[in-house]
Amino acid sequence: MFLFVATVIWLPRQAQQLESAERQEQQIADTLWVEQTIRFQLGRNEDDIRSLANAIAANGLAGEKLQDRMRFLQRTHPEIRRIAWIAADGRGTASDRKGTLSPAELPEPLRATLDRARSTSTPEYTQPSPPEDASHPGVMDYILPVHQGGHYVGGIITTYSLNGILEQMVPWWFAQKNEIRLTDRHENTLGQRAAGGAGRGVYTYAHDLNLPYTDITLRTDSVRSAPNLLSNRLVTIIVALTLGLSWSLAALWRDINRRTAVEKALREQIAFRTAMEDSLVTGLRVYDLNGRITYVNPAFCRMVGMRAEDLIGCSPPMPYWAPEVMAEYQERFAQRMAGTISPQGFETMFLRNRSERFPVLVYESALVDESGRQTGWMSSILDISDQKRFEELNRRQQEKLQAGARTVAMGEIASTLAHELNQPLAAITSYTTGALNLLNDPAARPDDAGLDRIRGALEKANAQAQRAGHVIRSVHSLAKRREPHRETVDLSALVANVVQVAELRASQHFMTIKTDIGPDTRTVLADPMMLEQVLLNLTRNAIEAMLSVEPERRVLRIGASADPLAPGSVIISVVDQGCGISQQARKHLFSPFFSTKSDGMGMGLKICRTVVEFHGGTLTYEDNPGGGTIFRFSMPASAAAENMKK
Ligand code: ADP
Repeated sequence: MFLFVATVIWLPRQAQQLESAERQEQQIADTLWVEQTIRFQLGRNEDDIRSLANAIAANGLAGEKLQDRMRFLQRTHPEIRRIAWIAADGRGTASDRKGTLSPAELPEPLRATLDRARSTSTPEYTQPSPPEDASHPGVMDYILPVHQGGHYVGGIITTYSLNGILEQMVPWWFAQKNEIRLTDRHENTLGQRAAGGAGRGVYTYAHDLNLPYTDITLRTDSVRSAPNLLSNRLVTIIVALTLGLSWSLAALWRDINRRTAVEKALREQIAFRTAMEDSLVTGLRVYDLNGRITYVNPAFCRMVGMRAEDLIGCSPPMPYWAPEVMAEYQERFAQRMAGTISPQGFETMFLRNRSERFPVLVYESALVDESGRQTGWMSSILDISDQKRFEELNRRQQEKLQAGARTVAMGEIASTLAHELNQPLAAITSYTTGALNLLNDPAARPDDAGLDRIRGALEKANAQAQRAGHVIRSVHSLAKRREPHRETVDLSALVANVVQVAELRASQHFMTIKTDIGPDTRTVLADPMMLEQVLLNLTRNAIEAMLSVEPERRVLRIGASADPLAPGSVIISVVDQGCGISQQARKHLFSPFFSTKSDGMGMGLKICRTVVEFHGGTLTYEDNPGGGTIFRFSMPASAAAENMKK
């Protein structure tokens, strides 16, 4: 490239120099030719003057005739300003005047030259002197001594205007192109012609005119300037071509760069795409419009256990289709060909290694090229074997869990029954034992008082037995997970009942039970038996928690108030000032069979929570700021529930 640029810079210069040298040579040749022409013309003039001399010498041409002849000569040679004849006897005739011309009128140098020519018998040119001003242009004389029969008869003096020589003898075309000067040895201008303007001093040449006894130099100076660097047409063409070539090279280079960048980006894209395809777990498959496979990704090959080469080009029936679902495949394939594919995926089954069946989820969409024309279909295929396995596992676990839950529920029911029946059965036992003791005592007389006591015990036993029956029924309904039998329950009456039962034990331990049922919360919508059970359990726990504290703290409060956060709900609370619940116990409080008591079953709270949740409420507890624990649960107020029913 550097070489090329160097050549391009060098070439016009070289061409310029060549042209310059050529023009200089031309200048020299032209100048020499002009010099030859001038000399040739002067030579012809010399011949004409010599024939005039012959006429004078041989025929004695003189006077008017001589003058006519001289004038004719002067007319035909405009460069001649004057022709004069000076005879040996001193008489003279001149072409430019009527009268005669005496030698005395001639300037001294001219007379001396005439004398010398006479003595040497040789024609001579005089050395012109530089013009003094424009009105006295430079002149040069040609002196021809004339002899006859060996005697000198006179001399012809021809006076040339140097400007005239240049005007007449230098061809016009040369004069147009050059400033021409005749100078002496000191370069003083003797004559000048500058028809085409002043010379530029670029192409010049000087050459001696070689006239005998003179020292005149012909100087030419071309009006042409140095050749322009780009004036040469060839150079212009070369430069234009070079510029074009450079531009093409630059464009090519740019194009190559762009291509390289695009190729690099493409390679990166391909590498990225390949890495992405290889890392995909989703199978990809492309059908063309004829239903032939044109592309599959590695994940799809892994799924069906076949190589891409074996799959590409396959048409239905595909090697991974299971024979039993062939009809379904065909139908879907026909739908796809008809252009009715659903964007929702569908589940089907494929064959791995042509034998092992596995479930897949297939999503399909139309494959459209950049011009918007459909070229086929793209499918993404998910192997859902693991998902199916997981679902199956889940289902089995669910079944197991349900079975387990049923077992636990059975256990719960059994425990609940045992727990709830414990109290009435113990009461029945104690009442009936008392009655039997009365009957079996031989000393005792079954008098009226005794009978009354037996009756009283049996009645109480009967009441407890009925309670046990209630318990069994309500636990049964709980176990069946039926909707609780809800009715409007008079909360005050129910709490009074509970207090009555709890008081039996509370009074033994000097405990006070206080109730505080708000005016708006007198009725709730609940299963009265279940609600009573909850309150009995909570009060029993509260009483047991207060056994270990000093008697003055043994106060149990049962309260009910409207729920400020949930209108239409009643919050029922059982507050004790007992031992409180330890951090350890909190973790397992509602777990079945968790108890800190030696005779506890650990089912009370569990049952309470189940019952409360059964009614759509929640059972919570918190520390009582005055010591002990507060248990709270919510129940729907009967008015709100009625409204809801409506
Ligand atoms: P149980 O009364 O048979 O032990 P619960 O389920 O009714 O079974 O109670 C579980 C445990 O919760 C009790 O053993 C007791 O430690 C604790 N507990 C329940 N209520 C209270 C309470 N009001 N104060 C302190 N501890 C309580």
